[in-house]
This record gives sequence, structure tokens and C-alpha cells, in this order.
Amino acid sequence: MTLLQGWGGQRRVECDERHPETAREVARSLSPQGSVARGLGRSYGDQALNEGRRVLTCTRLDRYLGFDEATGTLRCEAGVSLAQLIADFAPRGFFPAITPGTKFVTVGGCIANDVHGKAHHAQGTFATCVDALRLLVADGRVVTASPSCSGPPSGAWA
Ligand SMILES: Cc1cc2nc3c(=O)[nH]c(=O)nc-3n(C[C@H](O)[C@H](O)[C@H](O)COP(=O)(O)OP(=O)(O)OC[C@H]3O[C@@H](n4cnc5c(N)ncnc54)[C@H](O)[C@@H]3O)c2cc1C
Repeated sequence: MTLLQGWGGQRRVECDERHPETAREVARSLSPQGSVARGLGRSYGDQALNEGRRVLTCTRLDRYLGFDEATGTLRCEAGVSLAQLIADFAPRGFFPAITPGTKFVTVGGCIANDVHGKAHHAQGTFATCVDALRLLVADGRVVTASPSCSGPPSGAWA
């Protein structure tokens, strides 16, 4: 068990924390009692905690899967941090379109909380720069979600 807390520090609770390195490991790590994903733990609330139960910390899922220099479109795993993205892509002239007040957050955490930056009123939230995502849901299915994708979920991790 590992003692974990949210950034607000309201509660510290023992969790069965795992650090999967691949999508397959994530699938194998799902607990029948329920699992909670966690990024860099920068949420002020307790949504990335699961007292006495499984927490899947996704920071080792930090690979880039593809980048289109013409459009600035990146495919990556959910554990990539904005700090990592900025370090790697700012020198090439690219910066995340929406960033919260800290770069020590993961792409997965930004999507799950749909974070906003200082230009929230003009540019919207993180979702506005997400074309699509693949999500492993609790029963083991992999759902592909995008504004144009309304069909039934299907598939497994490639
Ligand atoms: C100094 C500071 C400044 C901040 N400024 C802002 C701001 O300006 N605007 C703003 O909107 N927020 C802000 N935040 C909040 C922060 O941006 C969000 O809480 C963000 O979601 C944290 O990302 P994380 O990777 O740490 O996720 P965590 O806190 O670890 O998790 C957040 C949520 O994402 C889910 N999650 C994480 N990874 C995955 C995954 N791989 N798959 C599925 N679900 C996942 C978790 O289950 C949880 O529900 C700030 C936080 C701090 C500490």
C-alpha cells in the first residue's frame, strides 16, 4: 500500500498503487473491486485516490506515438506530461494550445478534468484540442471517442 493524497492535501489514504508501463499492463492491472487512474496527482480534490483499493498511476505511459509537423497534431500516451511536451516541442516551435497553471500535469489528467488556461473565455478547455482518444473502461473494453465517432465501442489494445 502507498500513501497518496490530492494536491489540496485534505486526506492522505493508503492505496494499492501500480505503475503500469504499457496499455496491456493497464488492462491486466484492473481490479474487480474497481480502479482509479492517476496522473501526476495535481488535482486539488481527491478524484485520483481510491482508499484501500487500486490506483493505476499512468506516468510511465509516456510515449509519443506520432507527430504531424504540418498540423501540429500529436498522438501520445496519456501519461505524457505537459512539462515533457513543452521541453520536447517548444524548441521546434510548438506549444500546447491549452495549458493550466502548472505544467506538471499529464495529458490524461488534462483530458479527464478538461482543464482550462487563462484564456478560458476565448479558447475553451483542453477538449477543444483533442481530436480523439482511446479509453480502457472498467469492463476491459477499449472505447474510441471523438466528436465524429458515435458507434458502439470495440477493440482491444493493439
Ligand atoms: C499549481 C496548480 C495550478 C493549476 N492551475 C489550473 C488551471 O489554471 N486550470 C485548470 O483547469 N486546472 C488547474 N490545476 C488543476 C490541474 O490542472 C488538474 O487537476 C489536472 O487534471 C491534473 O492533472 P494530473 O495529471 O495531475 O491528474 P491527476 O490529478 O492525477 O488526476 C486527475 C483526474 O484525471 C484522471 N486521470 C488521470 N490520468 C488518467 C488516465 N491516464 N486515464 C483516465 N483518467 C485519468 C484521474 O482519475 C482523475 O480523475 C492546477 C493545479 C495546480 C497544482
